[in-house]
Amino acid sequence: MIKANYPVDQFAELRTPFYYYDLEVLRATLQEIIKQTSGDPFEVHYALKANVNPQVLAAVREAGLGADCVSGGEVQAALDAGIPASKVVFAGVGKADWEINLGLDNDIFCFNVESIPELEVINELADAKGKTASVALRINPNVSANTHHYITTGLNENKFGINLSELDKVTTIVKGFSNIRLVGVHFHIGSQITDLAPFQDLCVRVNEIQDYFESQGIKLENVNVGGGLGINYEHPNHFPIPEFEAYFKIFREHLTLRPGQKLHFELGRAVVAQCGSLISRVLYVKEGTSKNFAILDAGFTELIRPALYQAYHRIENLSSDRVEEEYDVVGPICESSDVFAKGYSMNATKRGDLIALRSAGAYGEIMASQYNLRALPKAYTSDELR
Ligand SMILES: *Cc1c(COP(=O)(O)O)cnc(C)c1O
Repeated sequence: MIKANYPVDQFAELRTPFYYYDLEVLRATLQEIIKQTSGDPFEVHYALKANVNPQVLAAVREAGLGADCVSGGEVQAALDAGIPASKVVFAGVGKADWEINLGLDNDIFCFNVESIPELEVINELADAKGKTASVALRINPNVSANTHHYITTGLNENKFGINLSELDKVTTIVKGFSNIRLVGVHFHIGSQITDLAPFQDLCVRVNEIQDYFESQGIKLENVNVGGGLGINYEHPNHFPIPEFEAYFKIFREHLTLRPGQKLHFELGRAVVAQCGSLISRVLYVKEGTSKNFAILDAGFTELIRPALYQAYHRIENLSSDRVEEEYDVVGPICESSDVFAKGYSMNATKRGDLIALRSAGAYGEIMASQYNLRALPKAYTSDELR
């Protein structure tokens, strides 16, 4: 078994649980994205909602990625990190007035608009400032992403986006708004998509939608296909970098861009998941009647994905190379759902062992809560602990 390279001696000094980000893995991932997109009119926006650790954001900015934001807080965080407003896109079904105003004041690249009432409000707020808002219509392509139903977003029944049946109505309305400039169309079909076929389905649908806009005499400068590329949670040591080559190739081969058009991507998980681990300690090994429990000092307050989506995270015992045994690996929170894995085989453990929950860089730290009045986890990077 390959174990990732952790500064275990330095971990020993630190209070657990905490997040650890390997910035070398992150930088290698960013380099691969640059390699696979240079030479095409492709622009990648990092989805901040996956992780906003300042050093992670700094690496993203250094790599020249833009930002995909879903709240005013994220727009501000992207700008504070030095990502230029001209590379900031802002999505979300429920943008508040102050959030729209923040985007207008900073002249962000584009609002990804999800409904007719939202268009009306943006037009009104832009008018009040004497500005023109650039918007892309988030269209629901009715493509199934074959992923967990909580993270499927591109079906008609989901709350996101404008349905295809409403397109005529929306384009007519947009033409009547003097403070709105339609600069593109936007799609996002879901998350943790590892079978790439749905992205090909999306390309086919985008081509049809492009034909529709052309038939209406509407020129679009931008097409944005969102994010959703999945990562390998089972084997983070063997597949630390996602399948960017195959992913971008699908769009290059199946999506027909018009002359001068730019294709935008919004990747979150694929950028940051594999660089992060939640580091915890075993508090107790409790022998049950039919199984043993490894009780950690981390719970769903630090990493909620297993409790929320039955998500799998690889678990490694960093302090042991003893023969593997099976454990229910659980947290200390007073809820039965506070379980990381059941019947999990890892090197035999004892009180005090350091445990790594792998692939936790995306939707980990950012979703932490203070339930049970627990402190929010700290985070350290490989640059700091070297
Ligand atoms: C969450 C989200 C993303 C990023 O999704 P990943 O699966 O992390 O790549 C991109 N765009 C929008 C609109 C989102 O809501």
